[in-house]
Amino acid sequence: MNRPLLLWDFDNTLLRTWLYTKFILTDLAAHLDRSVDDLYRLADKMEERYSLDGLLQVLGLNDQQRTQYTRTALERTRTNGGAFLFPGVDAVVRACAVRYEQGLITRGVESNQRQKFSSTPILHTALALRHFVDPNGSKGELIQATYSDRVVTVVDDNANELLDILARCPQVRCIRMAWPERNPPPHPDDNREWPVARSTDELLAILLTN
Ligand SMILES: [Mg+2]
Repeated sequence: MNRPLLLWDFDNTLLRTWLYTKFILTDLAAHLDRSVDDLYRLADKMEERYSLDGLLQVLGLNDQQRTQYTRTALERTRTNGGAFLFPGVDAVVRACAVRYEQGLITRGVESNQRQKFSSTPILHTALALRHFVDPNGSKGELIQATYSDRVVTVVDDNANELLDILARCPQVRCIRMAWPERNPPPHPDDNREWPVARSTDELLAILLTN
């Protein structure tokens, strides 16, 4: 009998993505002697297609320069490791290992999502299942195609992702993570379609007592 499955979104659910991005763009600005604001503007223009490698291409770096810079930048993010995670989420993931099989489900340019995940080695053992969904893809579609026979819980900060999942897989239990640090606006479906967790304690209470 399979254990229930717990799938974690990554950006702004486990990872303080804005801190990671700030670290990367500040490092790159120093490396290229450019203004950080300029790099943010260029990155914002790429919207959901943003990736570090894509940005380096826009900035005119050739293959070799991009590979070399990316390698050293990622080493620096790894030594900064846990600093990019919301405090305590690694302990939540560890605690959930008793009850759940766990994995990652993240949407975005795959190489970029993999790079970000590589900066948090503390999660790698627990989140052995990893799903990278294309920016144009759907988490709901992936769960429907892969886990229709499993009891699935998803934790995600983004109500639109949860709505997409519930539209395709109404049996999935969804939890919205709403970190006060992000000051997320309430959503009409909060506490109707899904419970909302605002801290690691609230998240654990939902995941381990229900
Ligand atoms: Mg997210």
